[in-house]
Amino acid sequence: MRDTLVLNASFEPLSTVTLNRAVVLVLQDKAVVEQAHPELRMRGSDVDIPAPRVIRLCRYVRVPFRRQAPWSRRGVLVRDRHRCAYCGHRATTVDHVLPRAQGGQDTWLNTVAACAEDNHRKADRTPEEAGMALLREPFEPTPADAMLLALREDDFKTLPEWLAQSAA
Ligand SMILES: [Zn+2]
Repeated sequence: MRDTLVLNASFEPLSTVTLNRAVVLVLQDKAVVEQAHPELRMRGSDVDIPAPRVIRLCRYVRVPFRRQAPWSRRGVLVRDRHRCAYCGHRATTVDHVLPRAQGGQDTWLNTVAACAEDNHRKADRTPEEAGMALLREPFEPTPADAMLLALREDDFKTLPEWLAQSAA
């Protein structure tokens, strides 16, 4: 997988993202292409652009370069792409894996996106106690994830299906 370097609006290198993510940022007018692959294009029904090798954000974002992005409910929903960790359907709430009533903390590794129904059903129980398996383990966002959070890319839009990568 080719990664694309992301520069801040100030031209300071920030991070790398996947090529697909870079194209989505460009198509969303959040970034411009600074340097393109000479031989690779991204083609779709109404798109045909050189595959970006370096992109630059259109506005300056402050990215805390800590190893750990600050926890937030919104960040958990974004990290989990608004998918419930228990059923995979759309999530609007944040569930504490180890419930707060049992000492669970607001941390990346203890929280997952959950639909309201599952959050209510699980209540103050662990997944084991509730008999509800996690579809995936919670994780700490990488610096690239933190950058995307800082960009307020609130939906982690998936690449449109019509957009495919092809050689020029
Ligand atoms: Zn659910």
